[in-house]
Amino acid sequence: MTDFSPQKGLTPEDIRQLVDSVIVEATLEEKVAMMSGRGFFALHKASGVWGSDPYRAGGGVERLGIPPFYFTDGPRGVARGRSTAFPCTMARGASFDTDLERRVGEVMGIEIRAQGCNLSGAVCVNLLRHPAWGRAQETYGEDSYHLGEMGAALSEGIQVHNVAATVKHFAVNSIENCRFKVDVRVEERALREVYLPHFKRILEAGCATVMSAYNKLNGEYCGENQRLLTDILRHEWGFDGFVHSDWIMGVRSPWGAVAGLDIENPEPVHYAARLIGAVENGQIAKLVVDTACRRILNTYYRFACAQDPLEDYPLELVAAPQHRALALEVAEKSAVLLRNEDLLPLDLATVGCVAVFGNLADLPNTGDNGSSRVRAPYTITPLGGLQEYAGESKVILGGNESDVDVAAQAASAADVAVVIVGYTADEEGEYIPGDLNLGQDVLPADIAEALEGANAGNNNGPRGGDRDSLALPESQVALIEAVSAANPRTIVVVLAGSAVLFGPWVSKVGAVLQTFYSGMEGGRALARLVFGEVSPSGKLPFTVASDPAHYPHFDKNADAIDYGYWHGYALLDRDGIAPAFCFGYGLTYGDFSYRALSARCAPSGDIIAQVSVRNDGAHAATEVAQLYLAPPGIAAERPKKILRGFQRVELAPGETKTVRFRVPADGLDWYDPETATWKTESGAHGILVGGSSLMAERLQVSVKL
Ligand code: BGC
Repeated sequence: MTDFSPQKGLTPEDIRQLVDSVIVEATLEEKVAMMSGRGFFALHKASGVWGSDPYRAGGGVERLGIPPFYFTDGPRGVARGRSTAFPCTMARGASFDTDLERRVGEVMGIEIRAQGCNLSGAVCVNLLRHPAWGRAQETYGEDSYHLGEMGAALSEGIQVHNVAATVKHFAVNSIENCRFKVDVRVEERALREVYLPHFKRILEAGCATVMSAYNKLNGEYCGENQRLLTDILRHEWGFDGFVHSDWIMGVRSPWGAVAGLDIENPEPVHYAARLIGAVENGQIAKLVVDTACRRILNTYYRFACAQDPLEDYPLELVAAPQHRALALEVAEKSAVLLRNEDLLPLDLATVGCVAVFGNLADLPNTGDNGSSRVRAPYTITPLGGLQEYAGESKVILGGNESDVDVAAQAASAADVAVVIVGYTADEEGEYIPGDLNLGQDVLPADIAEALEGANAGNNNGPRGGDRDSLALPESQVALIEAVSAANPRTIVVVLAGSAVLFGPWVSKVGAVLQTFYSGMEGGRALARLVFGEVSPSGKLPFTVASDPAHYPHFDKNADAIDYGYWHGYALLDRDGIAPAFCFGYGLTYGDFSYRALSARCAPSGDIIAQVSVRNDGAHAATEVAQLYLAPPGIAAERPKKILRGFQRVELAPGETKTVRFRVPADGLDWYDPETATWKTESGAHGILVGGSSLMAERLQVSVKL
């Protein structure tokens, strides 16, 4: 019998022949068994911890010696073992640093391999349409171009170590509490221009697999949505990898296979006897099963037969010192300085007592308790990091929300006050409703029983779901007000997964720094930022509105919702509304000026632009130069500006660098639903460059097409 086990160094032609012979050799039962995961809920029940063990997620034929895929979640690290906990995805989105994100992916790839897995669920790129989304922390932000660039970098990094990456959740999955039932209705143009391009970009960069979303798109569950999974994904985009379902009834019948869903995860509910029966009685063609198995096997061998960059992936590599150093670097590069009234950076030599306030000051808080939870070996808290840096005699715990008068007294006695506010897994995160009725009647008894405990009873802790408010809890606002009234040298540090709407308190404090959920090294990074070892360089990957009404309609309990074309900065621009903090905003300790912007259209149709950026300040700092396109908007109403490039530039005081951008020709297009084609407008296209979306409006040139 042929040896079907993966051998390093097989050529694509060898793999093609191998796959052909598996298709001939495997029985229908074995093929259908390749099309589902197995054993997840038994493991979950035994450990009480979601995803604690590597679980079979499709593929594999035991008799033929072909191993299955073993899946592990992300995206803030590897969601098993004692892995490195990176800052959450939204924080990394704020870094606008694709090289850094590729390195994060490589570390995840190494830690995944070291823990016996070969399929990663770390690439989550659902677009942040509204900041109340409970899983906002798992994605990069509100802009499709930025999502595509960051997600492609992560996926490329993970796959360096021959782990197949999954991009999720395909598509329009951006309300948490109703995700199992909501019908997201999206008109064609919005789908093509706003909600899908980042998935396409990431798949074109080589991401091997796709996870379908729980919700419906235009009336059809995404896990059995033929238009999405076959017409668009395969026929239009040419994707040849496999699609697997999201985890709890992400597909609801064997007909998902016909629609293009190759693997039912995590258990064989529909892709078992029912699928075998449907093939045997001719309702579903045998070719459907063979095609799914080919996609699964091709993907499997593609990675399993490739040479590994490392000789070995020992367990000691998990949270190794160099990985933790990367987590620190990411935390430093992702914090966004929103306000600074000449307070930061503090000078360690001259600063007096630093009093730290708030219930979150000494709480390990790396994000929600859902599937993305990483159990890091340790977490440096804000207080811990500041004390480690400046000494316990200089940095003290001043009080918390329980008694703001005591806190105010401590603040007035201190030189500087640092108030740590924001959310925890109680306020936002992944959510599984207790009354989930997903047709448990069709579930095997053991799976139904394990599912019962999935939300409430497991020791993953509470799961927050969508946020009820975009503001800070009242008790935190009272603490900020009391502390800052007693001491204007108050720094507010905000921990949150996306936009937080600040009240009038913001104009009374000396500085505001949003660190998101900054990972296991977050406290250490905070100290280095506050004391000026490094300059903040993160930029907001979303719009902070001045009023919740400025965001699109959001309903966490919706049965159906319309996602229109407009959201984020495009919506506020259209309506002429000023944000509290615009997309791309973030201060540094440097002072940047932009000059000499020029742009031209190359013969390929790409736009080539360049600009000089100078640091006029006294501190070395890094700027994120952003390029926006202002399309003519005559053929169709289009956003006033659209992000089409970003680059980090490190500049010493007085230094100038030239930053070059290339906007590919297809980045100029709009989608015409009438003809179902992408079209380029003729006429003057504005090219805007600056350190934020609003600043960019002040420096523009135009290119005539
Ligand atoms: C989540 C996915 C995750 C999966 C497996 C689901 O509930 O929506 O993001 O990958 O669980 O843990």
